[in-house]
Formats: sequence, structure tokens, C-alpha cells
Amino acid sequence: MELNVRDLSVSLGGASIVNKISLQVQEKKFVGLLGPNGCGKSTLLKSIYKVIKPDEGQVHLSGTDLLKSSPKAVSQLMGVVGQFNDLSFDFTVREMVMMGRTPHKKLLDADNAADFRIVDEAIRKVGLEAYSSRSYLSLSGGEKQRVILARALAQQPQFLVLDEPTNHLDVKYQLQILNIVRSLNIGVLAALHDLSLAAKYCDYLYLIKKGKVAARGEPKEVLTRERIADVFEVECEIYDIPVTGGLGIAYLASK
Ligand code: ADP
Ligand code: MG
Repeated sequence: MELNVRDLSVSLGGASIVNKISLQVQEKKFVGLLGPNGCGKSTLLKSIYKVIKPDEGQVHLSGTDLLKSSPKAVSQLMGVVGQFNDLSFDFTVREMVMMGRTPHKKLLDADNAADFRIVDEAIRKVGLEAYSSRSYLSLSGGEKQRVILARALAQQPQFLVLDEPTNHLDVKYQLQILNIVRSLNIGVLAALHDLSLAAKYCDYLYLIKKGKVAARGEPKEVLTRERIADVFEVECEIYDIPVTGGLGIAYLASK
């Protein structure tokens, strides 16, 4: 599936937050959305997954016009891991992950053997087998994040939208989550806050500044000293990581 966003604009409370952003995620590519806090990443993602209605623009997932499709139709194609995942009611981990099956069911359909198998597999993939019966609200931020990813996996989506999926995680689980996501071999659009991880995992990056695309391209093209200084207001050195390759970023000071 290929995501195409064209000239998307969103204003909130009278302020322009997303300003004519166009972006594309080609078949099976992992695309990162980078930019400082408040630049509009979550707002852009929410208007893609239909929580916010944009003022103008178009969003297509291959042949499907997402802005004109029902939430259920969209959730059959697209899995979402949002930035904040608080709940008012408590569920067990297993119940939370089972909710990922909802888009594929009719009203009052019972959970069947295939659903249980898919849910078990999703829980296993994020390493939470021992937590299946635990209450979701009792989990740490990082564990909750892995449950939400498992729920998205149980949805068996053909495309994933992630909003800072590694936010609360220590480094082992940051790598685990991004490895799992990569191994799915489906298109991914992810807002990420860690530039080195973005460089390591993403095929292509969009750098957002004040609701507009400031730069786009492969990580090496986008993550330059000058751009990072301009967009994030920090001085840094960029270097090639010895032996394993990849892009290293050493921060020096804020500007
Ligand atoms: P990011 O995810 O890049 O940190 P957000 O998309 O969450 O940024 O927010 C972009 C801007 O939109 C911020 O300045 C935020 O305060 C503002 N904003 C978000 N939601 C609303 C709202 N409901 N009303 C007014 N402003 C909002
Ligand atoms: Mg955000």
C-alpha cells in the first residue's frame, strides 16, 4: 500500500498548524517524520488517521480515499500507535490486544480460534507473554506502549502510523519496537524524536518546521549540521559510525 498526502492543511483554535504538507510513503517503505515539539507532527498524523478533520487536502492509501472512508474501513487497512494512550477504564493486556481484531468483525461476532492465535502471536512479538492477564493501567509507560503496538499488530494492518512509538522506552525496547515494525515489511509513517534512530531505521525522512516540510530525502541528505541547527536549534557533529556504518549525531550545545 502506498500513502499519498497532498496539500494537507489543518488549523486549530484559529492558528495554522499544518500548512499544505504533501508527503508520500511508497510501497513497504519506512518513512520518518521529524521536527521539534509543537511543529505539527501529531496533528498531521491525526488528520491522516481521521481523528482531526483537515481544512483541505487529500489523503489516499493506494486506491482508498481515507478522508471519505468510514473509520471502520480505514482501520481494516491502517494500524495506529498514538502518542498518548491513556484509558479511563481498565482492561487486561489480552483484552486490549483483542480490541485490535474489532475492525475485522461484525457486531456481536464472538472471538474465534483464529483471533486468539493472532492475539497470542502479537503479545509474543512484543515480549509481553508474562503480562497477558495484567491490568493495562498497572503497567509502566513503556509496557503500555508495547501493548498498543501489539493491538496494532493484531489488526494485521497493511500500513502503520506511529506517533513517537519509542517515547517511554529504554533503549532495548526502542530497538525492539523498531525492529518489529521493520520486520512487518509494510509501509510505515512514524513521527520519531530520536534522530539517530530515525537515521538507522528510516528509508526516507520528512523534516517539519512550523507546519511545513523544511526538507525531505534519505537520512544522509536530510540530517545535516546546518538543517539540525536551523530546525532544532542545536549545534551538532554528524559522522559515519565506524565498522557498522550508519549516521552518528553528537550534540554539542543548544544555539
Ligand atoms: P508535535 O506532535 O509536532 O509536537 P502537535 O501536532 O501536537 O505537535 O502540535 C502542534 C501545535 O498545535 C502545538 O503548538 C499545539 O499547541 C497546537 N495544538 C494542538 N492541539 C490543539 C488544539 N486542539 N487547539 C489549539 N492548538 C492546538
Ligand atoms: Mg506529537
